[in-house]
Amino acid sequence: MRKEARGKVDERTARFLKKLFASYYAKRGPKEPRDLPHREFAFMTFGEKMVIRHKGFRSYGELRDFMANLGPSDAFYSSAYFAKPDEPDMKAKGWLGADLIFDIDADHLPTSCREEHDRWACPSCGYSGRGEAPEKCPKCSSDKLLEVKWICDKCLSAAKDELIRLIEVLEGELGLRASDMIASFSGHRGYHLQVCSKAVLGLGQDERGEIVDYLLAIGLDPEALGLIPGAKLDMSEPGWRGRLARALYAILCRADEVELRSLGLRPKAVRALLASRDIMLDCLEHGRPLYLPRGFGRASLKKLLVACAEREAIKVDPVVTRDTHRLVRMSGALHGKTGLLKVDVPLDGLEGFDPLSSAVAFGKKPIKVKIAEGIPEVPAIRLGDEEYGPFEPGEFVVVPLCVAIFLMCKGVASLA
Ligand SMILES: [Zn+2]
Ligand SMILES: [Zn+2]
Repeated sequence: MRKEARGKVDERTARFLKKLFASYYAKRGPKEPRDLPHREFAFMTFGEKMVIRHKGFRSYGELRDFMANLGPSDAFYSSAYFAKPDEPDMKAKGWLGADLIFDIDADHLPTSCREEHDRWACPSCGYSGRGEAPEKCPKCSSDKLLEVKWICDKCLSAAKDELIRLIEVLEGELGLRASDMIASFSGHRGYHLQVCSKAVLGLGQDERGEIVDYLLAIGLDPEALGLIPGAKLDMSEPGWRGRLARALYAILCRADEVELRSLGLRPKAVRALLASRDIMLDCLEHGRPLYLPRGFGRASLKKLLVACAEREAIKVDPVVTRDTHRLVRMSGALHGKTGLLKVDVPLDGLEGFDPLSSAVAFGKKPIKVKIAEGIPEVPAIRLGDEEYGPFEPGEFVVVPLCVAIFLMCKGVASLA
């Protein structure tokens, strides 16, 4: 059984975090959600990890006072609008519609950096390693391993790139307006996109599921799109046809034998494809009927295009988008696993946005903490312009408040 090292915040540290979060909200409340009186609110607390649901507020001031009092570890509101948001019975709430929510999590993207920063340890024998934890400890065979996942610039920027692609597709292919979209950094390891427009408000689960299937290329059949030998492919065409044509072009340009074999193509088909690569590229460049060499037939083309579709798919979390009753983290609220803020990012500022600077909520006052014992080494983390760590288990360190809170929220440090 693998376990993430969190929830191990001791009582004193939990009280400390709660007090800091409460005073943050007293000074700076969260961002006011759109149409606040029709939203349901939910909160989680430090320590006892209470979940408070079905809260409704009449005004922003009331919401802010509540948060300044409670000092919640996490704060959410419903993507849905309800006639009576504080009714505990879902049916009695009176669903009026819901924003369309997308969640992109760095953890679901194929980044190589997790091998560098994710750590695991075996509490029974002390053995530890990098990357994903194995099923069993290679030294003592214990299956109770402790896994700690971390974030870095690489995985956060991969998530941001995915978000930018998502916005392009929603706008360019599905006709949603950028002015109805709110993009934000989640405060942990991903990005959210919230679409608030009349066009999506009334969509049910199945309709939202269709959008997910389109983005993830689920059930996509290149042949049904007319992508067969001899087809004229136009790389500037909008939608999946154009995207697959561009992806095919890209893969033909750079692929070698190893990569093509890894897509499941037979050696003979790979050799045929590589020998005729220039003619095929030429067909794509000039929109001429797609030439296929002998030995690379219709089935091979389909296999190659399906592989292109998998790469081009936009890796949104399907469960989140399908849900018409989702609780979403509040913007301007702190994340209980990091102490970082969920922050909205203007769409035209996404390229240059740096989450590990913009989401830092607490200052640099030095504070002494103890790194937990029996956990894997804590890798270096950048917050703002500086890098902190790595830290050894059991070590006492003096770090800026924002770093201390990050480590305490991750469950790897306590107040010294
Ligand atoms: Zn072990
Ligand atoms: Zn990373």
